[in-house]
Amino acid sequence: MNPNASHPKILPGTPESIRRASQALRDGKLIGLPTETVYGLAARGDQPESVAKIFAAKQRPSTNPLILHVGHSDSVHPLVAMDSDITRRRFEAASSLWPGPLTLVLPRSESVLDCVTAGGNTVAVRVPAHPVALRLLREVSLPIAAPSANVSNYISPTRPEHVIDGLADSVQWVLDGGICDVGLESTVLSIADPNAPPTILREGVLSAAELERSLGETVTSATLSHSTQSDAAVAAPAASPGMHRKHYSPRTPLRLVSEQSRCPLSPDPNHPERVLRIRLRGAAEPMPGYADVWSLSPSGDLSKIANRLYDTLRRADSGQFDQIEIDQVTSLEWPSNTNPNLLAAIGDRLQRASNQDATDH
Ligand code: AMP
Ligand code: MG
Repeated sequence: MNPNASHPKILPGTPESIRRASQALRDGKLIGLPTETVYGLAARGDQPESVAKIFAAKQRPSTNPLILHVGHSDSVHPLVAMDSDITRRRFEAASSLWPGPLTLVLPRSESVLDCVTAGGNTVAVRVPAHPVALRLLREVSLPIAAPSANVSNYISPTRPEHVIDGLADSVQWVLDGGICDVGLESTVLSIADPNAPPTILREGVLSAAELERSLGETVTSATLSHSTQSDAAVAAPAASPGMHRKHYSPRTPLRLVSEQSRCPLSPDPNHPERVLRIRLRGAAEPMPGYADVWSLSPSGDLSKIANRLYDTLRRADSGQFDQIEIDQVTSLEWPSNTNPNLLAAIGDRLQRASNQDATDH
């Protein structure tokens, strides 16, 4: 259990708490749900009133669709319309990666609510790989809509107390499942169009190579060629509804800097600022001009960088710094065996976090 998680609404992830949370979900309440990616803000996905509570609590635009979570891949069938043999075969193959950090986009069935799909003709579904989430989903036995449990545009939550920070008044309880293993949102893979290759709409921890091994065919990425190049990422159109340019942002201004830079960008001697430098890798040694220097993973372990990123951004945003500078991800400077999709996922989230004044949300 997590000794830091002390709040009356945070319940230990015990069978007894899971039963209470399951009943609360059935009653139309919101629950903070641990998953292996980030914490979700869960509500039953088959009732417009419950789904509306998610949009209201998060101040989420209604154009941004929700992911439905279920406890078994068989439970997906009533939610989707797999008319094509190709789609059926792809679903069988891709769902072998479940439970896991993979969201599949498929043609929707009539039974799925418009407010879940944002009016579109596809639905996103996932079986998460966290024991507390799985137990809850199997107990409640309903499709559960669960976007990340943060107010829209703020940093996604990876600990139960992060959910409390933004959404204490909205949730009935938060189930404590500890610190999220992955720490970044799921990979979103569309297999909705049998005439197109399976396409990654949002990068996450899964590599295209892993997906290709399961699917037995080429997987394309709607974002990979752009994500590691800062300017192109800003110019790229949203690949998936809800993938707005500004997202995951701290309130403290954040800018991306070269890994090699050793002092703050254009420091103003007449207007001293407390600038925090966050390095992705390497030592957290003091550097001139910076109020503090933190390192996400001194040894450069990409999984640890992902795991610590959101918690670190939240701590950086606690009000003690005027400016955050964080290393930019540039793929050329990483070992050749680095997971390119995870690298792109981190680069993508950092790029969005630094878009302070984008206004398309
Ligand atoms: P989150 O709010 O962090 O749980 O992420 C939900 C995201 O999943 C959305 O913002 C979209 O990027 C993606 N998503 C959900 N439903 C669909 C869909 N039908 N088609 C494509 N992407 C989707
Ligand atoms: Mg989110």
